[in-house]
Amino acid sequence: MRKLEELKTGKAKRLYNTDDATVLWVEYLDQATALNGKRKEKIASKGALNNQIDCLLFNYLIQNGIATDFIRQVSATEQLIHPVKMIPLEVVVRNLASGSFQRKFATTYLQPLSRPIVELFYKSDALDDPFINDDQVEVLGLASAAELAAIKQLALQINQLLQSRFAQANLTLVDFKIEVGYLAGQLVLADEISPDSCRLVDQTTQASLDKDVFRKQTGDLTTVYQEVLTRLQNSEVAHVSR
Ligand code: UDP
Repeated sequence: MRKLEELKTGKAKRLYNTDDATVLWVEYLDQATALNGKRKEKIASKGALNNQIDCLLFNYLIQNGIATDFIRQVSATEQLIHPVKMIPLEVVVRNLASGSFQRKFATTYLQPLSRPIVELFYKSDALDDPFINDDQVEVLGLASAAELAAIKQLALQINQLLQSRFAQANLTLVDFKIEVGYLAGQLVLADEISPDSCRLVDQTTQASLDKDVFRKQTGDLTTVYQEVLTRLQNSEVAHVSR
């Protein structure tokens, strides 16, 4: 497999095509952004940490029957994926109140929700990823009612699996964002799952172990992401040897 020319550079990843038309090469960058890219910083080791966390979580989800675009990790900062016809939605699942939900409804931070909820945002940097409801998704032709039902079911299934995997690492999954698309006609999980796209708190202390430390400038991103990776790796060994 050879990496050929660059196709696209996003906020935290660079995409290349390869000599195989069914394979893309992804490089995770040492870059962090907040406020929809308006604040940008270079952060050493971030690419390697997010790539390793993402590969570990995608491998775990695949082992548990989730269809994804992931092929394999190729280096600390790189992985191979299949090209996917992306649905331009950010699919957010919440277990506890935080972030925009907490601000919007003036709830208590980390207030438990009576059941996990799914929220949809229209993926558009120009529009600042606005909240979008089911009717709007259908009328804009982004997904049909049946597709939306399948997307929500997939997101909730991933939530259950991630909640139990993070719990093994003494982490509570507060909320997370996924992106989905079609691969050979099948709905699949695509893009990234990392502390950039999840809110995680320590089960005991409730300390944040995710991008909130960068957003709120309350801690060192590298230290926190390394802690998440180490905990996941250590609990993986425990899991396998059991
Ligand atoms: N999220 C993301 N990308 C975005 C917006 C949100 O990955 O562009 C994630 C975020 O990390 C959190 C979840 O989606 O885990 C819910 O985010 P929320 O709507 O609370 O927005 P925020 O407070 O992060 O602006």
